[in-house]
Amino acid sequence: MRGGLLALLIAFGGCRSKPAPAGEGRSEVTQRSFEREDERAQMISRQLETRGIDDPRVLAAMLAVPRHRFMPADVADRAYEDRPQPIGHDVTISQPYIVALMTQLAQVEAGETVLEVGTGSGYQAAVLAELGATVFTIERIGALARRAEATLRELGYTKVEVRHGDGYAGWVERAPFDAILLTAAPPSVPEALTDQLAVGGRLVAPVGRDRGWQQLVVIERSREGLVRERVLDVSFVPMLPGTTPE
Ligand code: SAH
Repeated sequence: MRGGLLALLIAFGGCRSKPAPAGEGRSEVTQRSFEREDERAQMISRQLETRGIDDPRVLAAMLAVPRHRFMPADVADRAYEDRPQPIGHDVTISQPYIVALMTQLAQVEAGETVLEVGTGSGYQAAVLAELGATVFTIERIGALARRAEATLRELGYTKVEVRHGDGYAGWVERAPFDAILLTAAPPSVPEALTDQLAVGGRLVAPVGRDRGWQQLVVIERSREGLVRERVLDVSFVPMLPGTTPE
C-alpha cells in the first residue's frame, strides 16, 4: 500500500499537509457526525492532499460532512470512493476531489454569502456551510431539491436555503454573492450570474458545450471588470434551462 500511495504522491506532485486530526478545526455549524470518519480521513489523505488541496479549512470541512448521508442507500457504501456516484434523476454527486477543489478555488470565508447552482444531493452546499458561509442553492429538479433540503435539515445545516428553480436566473433577491459555484455545466457563463457577483467575488464553474468534458474556470470580479482563469478539464452534467417537478 505504501508503494501505491508513494506513486500517487509522485503523480500528483506531492503531499502538502497532514490530514486534520478528528475533532480539530471544526465549526459549530452542525451536530457532529463521527460515522465513517476513518473513511473520510483516508479520503482526505489519499484523494485530496495528494492533489494539492491544502487549505486546512477545506480539509476540515471535508472531514466534517458525512458524505454518505447525502447519497441514496444503494450507493451510500461507495460514498468515499474516488469518483462521482449516481444519485438518481440522471444526476451525480461530484467526486470528493472536485468538491474540495471548487471549494478551495472559491476561497470562501466565514460570514460570506454563497450561491450554488445545482443543489443535487446538498453535499457541496453542506461543505460550504461548514466554512461558516450562508449558502443559497438552486436545483431545477423538484424531487432533488426536496430531498436535499430534508437531508440538510436533518444534519442541522440551518444556514443553507434550498430553492426549486432555474439557476440561469441566479437569486436576485440575495445578490450580490461573495462566491458563486456552478455544479452543472452551462455552454458559457450566464451574464445573470456574473452580474450577481460582488466586487472581489469569485465564480467557479465548469463551462463548455461538450457533453463529455468542460473546462473548470474561475472568474473574479475586480473593480475594473471580470478576470477569467482556466483550471483544468472536468466532466459535469449539463446545466439545463427550466425546471421539472421530478
Ligand atoms: N452539487 C451537487 C451535485 C450536483 S449535479 C451535490 O453536491 O450533490 C448538478 C445538478 O445541477 C443536478 O442536480 C441538476 O439537476 C442541476 N441543474 C442542472 N441545470 C440546472 C439549472 N439550470 N438550475 C438549477 N440546477 C440545475
